[in-house]
Amino acid sequence: MAMAMAICAQLSSSSPLFHPQITKKPFLLPSPAATISVHGFSTLRPKSLSLSHRSSISASAASSTVDVNEPVKKSVRTLPFRVGHGFDLHRLEPGYPLIIGGIDIPHDRGCEAHSDGDVLLHCVVDAILGALGLPDIGQIFPDSDPKWKGAASSVFIKEAVRLMDEAGYEIGNLDATLILQRPKISPHKETIRSNLSKLLGADPSVVNLKAKTHEKVDSLGENRSIAAHTIILLMKK
Ligand SMILES: [Zn+2]
Repeated sequence: MAMAMAICAQLSSSSPLFHPQITKKPFLLPSPAATISVHGFSTLRPKSLSLSHRSSISASAASSTVDVNEPVKKSVRTLPFRVGHGFDLHRLEPGYPLIIGGIDIPHDRGCEAHSDGDVLLHCVVDAILGALGLPDIGQIFPDSDPKWKGAASSVFIKEAVRLMDEAGYEIGNLDATLILQRPKISPHKETIRSNLSKLLGADPSVVNLKAKTHEKVDSLGENRSIAAHTIILLMKK
């Protein structure tokens, strides 16, 4: 989670945010033969990551690499259920759109990020990846890769769902909590939930969304940031 936060900080610190746009380009994950640097996130190769091809990923002498596939091998072996948690936070800045769950929410500020800064979709992706025992969103979709600049976060969701499906799991249920001081989410909650369900290919009854303020304290409470938590239960198909 700390890593995810660090990555989001990296995303936030990169300059201009683009409005979300649907990319028609094929979406690719790193090759299983690629070495993923925990600290650099820059050594991913733009080839498809397949859970069914689990060649080993080398560990460097500096032990700064992770084996993408080793946890998956364990995870898909026998477990009938897997739980994942996702957390994300973005800084809010004037002049940017506020995209939550793929929906453009009217507000006086939005997320400055490498992608569209969709805090909800990012943490749902991390929850799915976490449940599968995969590296987090920042490792799989590195902000150093220009192809994710301004990307609609729905592409990350679709890829996470593909990986879940490939591993033989489906969504049991999902519970997400948005934390922001403003604007009020209640008028948009059903639209967001419905869109999230659609993106996940899940029945809306298993996708829950809550929202709360931060009691006007800290950056969240001062309308300077937005955060989200997600817990997801995956079930073996
Ligand atoms: Zn994010």
